[in-house]
Amino acid sequence: MALVSLKQLVDDAFQNGYAVGAFNVVNMEILQAALKAAEENKSPLILAVAESHLGLLDLDQYAPILLRAAQQASVPVAVHLDHGQVFSNFIKALRCGFTSVMFDGSTLPYEENAAKTKEIVRMAHAVGVSVEAELGHVTGGEGDASPGVADPTLFTDPEEAQQFVQETGIDALAVAVGSVHGIYKGTPELDIPRLARIRELAGVPLVLHGGSGLSDDDFRQAIANGIAKINVYTDLSQAAMAKIRTAQGMPQNTDFGQFMAQVVDTIKEAVTEKMRIFGSVGKAK
Ligand SMILES: [Zn+2]
Repeated sequence: MALVSLKQLVDDAFQNGYAVGAFNVVNMEILQAALKAAEENKSPLILAVAESHLGLLDLDQYAPILLRAAQQASVPVAVHLDHGQVFSNFIKALRCGFTSVMFDGSTLPYEENAAKTKEIVRMAHAVGVSVEAELGHVTGGEGDASPGVADPTLFTDPEEAQQFVQETGIDALAVAVGSVHGIYKGTPELDIPRLARIRELAGVPLVLHGGSGLSDDDFRQAIANGIAKINVYTDLSQAAMAKIRTAQGMPQNTDFGQFMAQVVDTIKEAVTEKMRIFGSVGKAK
């Protein structure tokens, strides 16, 4: 067990009808929680660092911690750059030893998205690093405070997805089929027939962004139709914040470290719940 490529994890999930959770490790608390949950549940794990979170952490300092943690884990772990757009961040991630990168050209015209994705694939594959890319556009940002709705005009087109995968050689495709980043406004509705068609034509493991706020049934249907990686952040953030609010009124001499260990446990429970729903429990091998 140890540090593995994203491809290794999602190919197995895709073939065997489960999904691996990708958790945005914005700090040590989420990292510890995700690792503990994965080891206790014998689940594969994806540790994701979103480009938009780089203001919260120094990648040069943090990457060695992530990679060491992955190498020492008793379960297979991929270390992934999430929503990369800046070229220097890809180089940095590759140099640090990440085993996966996502290029997000989802707001670009098709030709430009495909061309840039292809360039990243060429670079990453040369050093054995997996690549995820996005076609169509999942709205909202990670941890977005304002509730969002999905925009059907930006949903992934199945025929285009087939062409995109063939042209670029990506290992996993992030699709827009009704999920949004951050908090949902109203009840989300996934376009499952569209997802099924994308799976049929694209033939690679599919990725669902905006995995917070969907129902268990949404996840089951998504996984049954090709989703092999699910990104989660908002649910973990909300669980942690709910726990932190309980600190109000605690004695003045409450120890910070001890309290944060309780926050880690709370996040761990939230991660464990996702692993159970995604079917990744016991799949570490
Ligand atoms: Zn995302």
